[in-house]
Amino acid sequence: FRIQKKICGNQKNGQFFLVSADLFLDAEFVALADDLSKTVDYGAVCLFIKERMETHPFRLIETAAHFLAQEILLAYPAIQKINLRLHKPDAPIGLPFETVYIQVEKGWHNVFLSVGSNLGDRESAIQTALWKLRALPDVQVLKQSDLIQTKPYGYQEQGDFLNGCVFLKTIKTPRALLRTLNQIEADLGVNRSTKIHWGPRAIDLDILLYDQLILDEETLTIPHKDMKNRSFVLEPLSQIAGYVRHPVFHKTIGELWQELQGCADQAGGSNG
Ligand code: ADP
Ligand code: MG
Repeated sequence: FRIQKKICGNQKNGQFFLVSADLFLDAEFVALADDLSKTVDYGAVCLFIKERMETHPFRLIETAAHFLAQEILLAYPAIQKINLRLHKPDAPIGLPFETVYIQVEKGWHNVFLSVGSNLGDRESAIQTALWKLRALPDVQVLKQSDLIQTKPYGYQEQGDFLNGCVFLKTIKTPRALLRTLNQIEADLGVNRSTKIHWGPRAIDLDILLYDQLILDEETLTIPHKDMKNRSFVLEPLSQIAGYVRHPVFHKTIGELWQELQGCADQAGGSNG
């Protein structure tokens, strides 16, 4: 549908935009419930987009499209994914053209994190980190494993760790999620520039799995590089994700955990 919006102060009537959106719902869930309140009223979504476009200032259609997609996902929890196109049919192009648009796809992703601490009040550091995650509008913490006490891995001259895993849904991209985790670590007193690798830390938050994504970047590797050798990851993770398949090894977390325990038994019970 068309929306008229002023984007610069000196524009008298504003310009026209055309918004179109594909909304992806869990159709089976909606059909089985046969309940109007479980589905999404697309008329209401259109009014919502119109209201947001008209009241929210922006300079770039890229910004507007990202903002709209995010706001819709947050306002309508039944929507799993959205594909939104924001057209600017009156763009200042000195040639005949049909349309220009930006397309944004956003949705909820299934993520498993590991949380660990071996400094200070470890349990309260972990609870504070989880509380900070829960407070984010674009993150839903859905499951939490038990916390287990483990011997340090790598650098040995430090106290025991408390480790656990968390299942969450988020609309953040992997890099945005890493930035958020690094920010929470910083809030809880982790100084990245001075700390020893694998050394003591008030809190360590790692991304283990992000859907079935495989990513190898300089500052972010998903699935987490060393998880198949870490009992302090696999033990709590198998509690909440035993059935989830590792996209690189094609084995479930439960299978990886059993294999690691088998190796540990043969090696005389070491977990490192
Ligand atoms: P580790 O968690 O392996 O014990 P650090 O917490 O010191 O070590 O991690 C250092 C860097 O690892 C982070 O700044 C981040 O850029 C990078 N990193 C790579 N992959 C991941 C991931 N999946 N989750 C979290 N950090 C990661
Ligand atoms: Mg880390």
